[in-house]
Amino acid sequence: MGSQEVSTVDWQGKHVTVAGLGVSGIPAARALHERGALVTVVNDGDDERARAQAAELEALGITVRLGDGATLPPSTELVVTAPGWQPDKPLFLAAAEAGVDIWGDVELAWRLRGDNGRKAAPWLAVTGTNGKTTTVRMLASILEAAGLRTAAVGNIGVSLLDAVLGEQEYDVLAVELSSYQLHWAPSLRAHSAAVLNLAPDHLDWHGSMEAYAADKGRVYEGNTVACVYYAADPATEDLVREADVEEGCRAIGFTLGAPGPSQLGVVDGILVDRAFVKNRQKQAQELAEVSDVNPPAPHNIANALAAAALARAFGVEPAAVRDGLRNFRPDAHRIEHVADIDEVAYVDDSKATNTHATEASLAAYDSIVWIAGGLAKGATFDELVTGAAKRLRGAVLMGADRALIHEALTRHAPEVPVVDLDRTDTGAMSEAVEHAARLARPGDTVLLAPACASMDMFTNYNKRGEAFADAVRARAETSA
Ligand code: ADP
Repeated sequence: MGSQEVSTVDWQGKHVTVAGLGVSGIPAARALHERGALVTVVNDGDDERARAQAAELEALGITVRLGDGATLPPSTELVVTAPGWQPDKPLFLAAAEAGVDIWGDVELAWRLRGDNGRKAAPWLAVTGTNGKTTTVRMLASILEAAGLRTAAVGNIGVSLLDAVLGEQEYDVLAVELSSYQLHWAPSLRAHSAAVLNLAPDHLDWHGSMEAYAADKGRVYEGNTVACVYYAADPATEDLVREADVEEGCRAIGFTLGAPGPSQLGVVDGILVDRAFVKNRQKQAQELAEVSDVNPPAPHNIANALAAAALARAFGVEPAAVRDGLRNFRPDAHRIEHVADIDEVAYVDDSKATNTHATEASLAAYDSIVWIAGGLAKGATFDELVTGAAKRLRGAVLMGADRALIHEALTRHAPEVPVVDLDRTDTGAMSEAVEHAARLARPGDTVLLAPACASMDMFTNYNKRGEAFADAVRARAETSA
């Protein structure tokens, strides 16, 4: 069977165990139940919310077992899991022992696509350690500019299952995939896919860097037109080399420098394509200007090139790439310019929750007062600080693991003034902004790029970013 064709499963009477109530588990249970499967949902938690959700499913005739996500119901023929469940859970070990397949939410969506009689749209998939959401949104914007019916789906807002089973018919989907989702998606075959970059992250979940990379690399399996990699990150190209793809599928690189044949890159401030042109030895096609990318920070230009490569692989014309990039607005808390006060720019990159993202963020500005800290998730900061030392005017540190960053600064940038904030209450961010403002000089950027997770002080990175933006706006008002 060709990789893009739709496979059909006879669900009638099939015993399926859905692991995890939640954003993916509930729609999965419903969809399978509607198709005649005998569904049992198992869930570790047994709190009030879980009970309310369970009651709704039980009313439909779905069995729910709360407080025990470890034991495999004996008649199980298939497990459908929430992507975040760790692969070494006893439930999965029992399933493996019994020879029962385990699918994640992405695998289920891939298998169910088209089974409601609607067109099964091809998928353009994006993964990588950082930049996924931005790239997928840029890609959707480009596809829309080309007049295609599309949506940005996956690990963002709209669930894949809703997209493939909903009323709306699509020509193509721009799909963000996390390493967890790829781990549980054995038969996914995208039209084309990109791995943006590869840096250590989530290693506690995957067990090792090799396992993490291997799961990311699955995105290339069975691609039909293009495997897109970042030429500056050889690990992504290695994954292309290892992938088993359809005949004729090409490896397409993107680079911030001048592109070679079969690459997209940048020449004199212009994004150019030397991959999807008639004569790639001699020809290059202008796609857009660097200033069309919003914001035009180096890592974001890389994201734009990756999105352009996938769109071009799908046959999109150059003008639509330009228009799509121009129309694109970045999501909140991703290098978001909040205000200028006394000739100092205040930028919220709360989404920079790991050192790789923060490195990109710090590289985008010449003189920075850096606000950082939170939960380090096992990271070390020496490399990050060494790379940025020359551009740091000062640093304001907060959160549980701030000492790790402070130590790295002492070792590699002893001349940089550091404010160490020993408070975690709601006013902490305002105080951080006050200190940062005092350290900044005209022309500087005060950059919240924490390199850490936020949960020690905030509900999530959104709340952290909002606290920063609120503090900056309050300051702007008083200084106006
Ligand atoms: P993801 O969905 O992979 O988390 P986002 O697009 O939400 O990615 O961006 C997360 C953070 O990663 C941003 O705040 C930015 O600091 C950083 N980032 C974005 N694109 C890249 C890239 N190509 N390389 C490195 N860091 C990036």
